[in-house]
Amino acid sequence: MIPISRPRLGQEEIDAVTEVLRSGMIASGQKVKEFEAQFAAYLGVKHAVAVSNGTCAIHAALYALGIGKGDRVIVPPFTFIATSNAVLHAGAEPVFADVDEKSFNISPEKIEKILIKDKKKKIKAVIVVHLYGRACEMDKIMEIARKYSVKVIEDAAQAHGAKYKGKMAGTFGDAAAFSMYATKNMTTGEGGMVVTADDKTAGILRMFINHGQDRVYYHTILGYNYRTTDIEAAIGIEQLKKLDGFNKKRNENAGKMKDILKPYKKIILPEDGEGCSHIYHQFTIRVKNGKRDAFLKHITGGGIGAKIFYPVPLHKQPVYETLLKKKYEMRVSEKLASEVISLPVHPGLTDADFSIMEGVFRSFDWKA
Ligand SMILES: *Cc1c(COP(=O)(O)O)cnc(C)c1O
Repeated sequence: MIPISRPRLGQEEIDAVTEVLRSGMIASGQKVKEFEAQFAAYLGVKHAVAVSNGTCAIHAALYALGIGKGDRVIVPPFTFIATSNAVLHAGAEPVFADVDEKSFNISPEKIEKILIKDKKKKIKAVIVVHLYGRACEMDKIMEIARKYSVKVIEDAAQAHGAKYKGKMAGTFGDAAAFSMYATKNMTTGEGGMVVTADDKTAGILRMFINHGQDRVYYHTILGYNYRTTDIEAAIGIEQLKKLDGFNKKRNENAGKMKDILKPYKKIILPEDGEGCSHIYHQFTIRVKNGKRDAFLKHITGGGIGAKIFYPVPLHKQPVYETLLKKKYEMRVSEKLASEVISLPVHPGLTDADFSIMEGVFRSFDWKA
């Protein structure tokens, strides 16, 4: 099976972890500080705070920006559930704004439509997701958010190194959350990072992720243990050095995949997006005419580890149908959920993998 993702870990990561293990200092220490400083420098943002995973990165960002009980937060319904779960864990309520069919990302126009109607000003923030590694239209989104005085959090869990108009994803909003999970473009196994340009937000973040302590054993706010370890940070430092190379390779692989799939008229190929440098966390096609499931069955049978991200839009998830009072109809997300398939473009693919995939695509009964 050609897997949909495979972490690229080499001798560098092994040596870095060994060094930390031998030192005996494995909790959050010097390596975490180095990883934070290097991640911040890579993005060109003032503060980076390393945390246990991407979900708590979003939760911490919400808390640090003052979002909590009674507040509402706009989120797209076509994303991984962590995005909106974090809103609920913060005590706030997610409000869904549908995505754009071409970019798969939250539609700025739909954000504004919801904000116009929010007469009681309950909406305090928008979380935008740079889905599959393609940045959202950040200039439009920031303009709308400033006009209605709502905060912006970027869920950049799939967008390490993606750019919009030359600027890194994660540096537009009031804060951004990254994930370092094993399948992401860079990984520490589990792990995450919150970034912000604002000193006060960064200060609250640091306290929140460490039981609200302001000095050792003096706790001023109710926090969590969302810390990470020097073991993970040591891996992260090595992965960050390789990230641009990984992303370049993903982009090349996406180009190869587009060439291979071009002849098939029932397939809609992903677009890089105007002003975007796409990092293809996922290469996601749409299969038209109700053929998605048959195509998926055929290619997985042929050894291609294709996956559906995501088969059920969030407003249709059983947990939310119970938890959220409001019923939603999100036409675009529902349609996309029935048409998308993500195909492997990870940096470990070989020419042999591509020839196998080409053959499997060709042998599908396109006429049936
Ligand atoms: C992976 C992911 C998350 C959550 O990150 P974890 O590290 O798995 O907690 C959040 N949002 C999106 C869009 C993701 O892909």
